Amino acid sequence: MQNYQAPNEQGFFGEHGGVYVAETLIPALQELAQAYAAAKQDPQFWADFERDLKHYVGRPSPVYHAERLSKHLGGAQIWLKREDLNHTGAHKINNTIGQALLARRMGKKRVIAETGAGQHGVASATVAARFGMECHVYMGADDIIRQAPNVFRMKLLGANVVSVESGSRTLKDAMNEAMREWVARVDDTFYIIGTAAGPAPYPEMVRDFQCVIGREAQAQMQEAIGRQPDVAVACVGGGSNAIGLFHPYIAETQTRLVGVEAGGLGIHTASHAAPISSHAPIGVLHGFRSYLMQDDNGQILGTHSVSAGLDYPGIGPEHSHLHDIKRVEYTVANDEAALQAFDLLCLYEGIIPALESSHALAWAVENAPKMGKDQVILVNLSGRGDKDINTVAKLKGIEI
Ligand SMILES: *Cc1c(COP(=O)(O)O)cnc(C)c1O
Repeated sequence: MQNYQAPNEQGFFGEHGGVYVAETLIPALQELAQAYAAAKQDPQFWADFERDLKHYVGRPSPVYHAERLSKHLGGAQIWLKREDLNHTGAHKINNTIGQALLARRMGKKRVIAETGAGQHGVASATVAARFGMECHVYMGADDIIRQAPNVFRMKLLGANVVSVESGSRTLKDAMNEAMREWVARVDDTFYIIGTAAGPAPYPEMVRDFQCVIGREAQAQMQEAIGRQPDVAVACVGGGSNAIGLFHPYIAETQTRLVGVEAGGLGIHTASHAAPISSHAPIGVLHGFRSYLMQDDNGQILGTHSVSAGLDYPGIGPEHSHLHDIKRVEYTVANDEAALQAFDLLCLYEGIIPALESSHALAWAVENAPKMGKDQVILVNLSGRGDKDINTVAKLKGIEI
């Protein structure tokens, strides 16, 4: 793992990734790839990025020793990387700041994004306001109804929310529509993708922006305990918070890396969102090749998770590769385990976690008791749970 290098020139992580899009999109992706390659070499670009992460996002986010929770579980020490403390309440802002800076560098005055639960839409609308750009967010008509508070947030931030009425009227259709719009207006429009997926160069670019999580964690853990954690764990939807934590640790093989997919009602039911854990075959969706939940005819299967942010049939290509080369272990937490972990963090630490992050916590809740008290688990707390309280209340049968 010392000389781990990915992706290759064609945007492949092993056999995953690449560029699988209509020919009309190729020039846009080439322009983007060239612009990012140039930005990546430019110290000024990273200085601007770091300044915004510090003064706008509020980084570095702390690492926090969850002492009461660790004591309650009676085993390994649980530490949290507090991405929930970022401006807008999750890790997604790290990536949207990076892409907005790149859009500005490319002279694009208009950004588009697609969103399912609305979290990436809000993060995109936020940076568009911050950088004075026009913002259009594509959202399935059904999701617009389900996610009304986030739709209103986007509007407050000055974004135009475009209702997508086609297909299943959810994220999948919104992505298709955003792609169409990008082709039509590529000269002045930048497409902000919200996770470490999509055609090259997006998976690499999003990873690079999110790696601030893992780099900070390494310095902070060294300072706090004089060494690195025995395990670093993160939830995996498309995979951006997880790759951000894992990537700087790839060469540090003394730290086990664990990615937690959404087990929903169980991976032996039809209601989950766990492509790797359910041994899904390789397929192509949204411009890249990776493990993908599909039936024998290649039709994309429906997914379910209690957390909207993990409810995706695919997984970013670098995760599929890290699974293939066995550097990261992928497993699942079911809805119920995530909800239990959610409750525990509220009650023992005074922190309401996002339901997505609760999946990573669930791994710690299950495994900490089997480990020694001198061992350390670092959990990426990717976001705060204020957005999820209605979901949790409903599941508990409580009216709020
Ligand atoms: C969107 C989201 C996720 C899932 O996305 P990844 O790209 O897999 O990180 C996880 N946690 C939170 C809080 C989110 O908002």
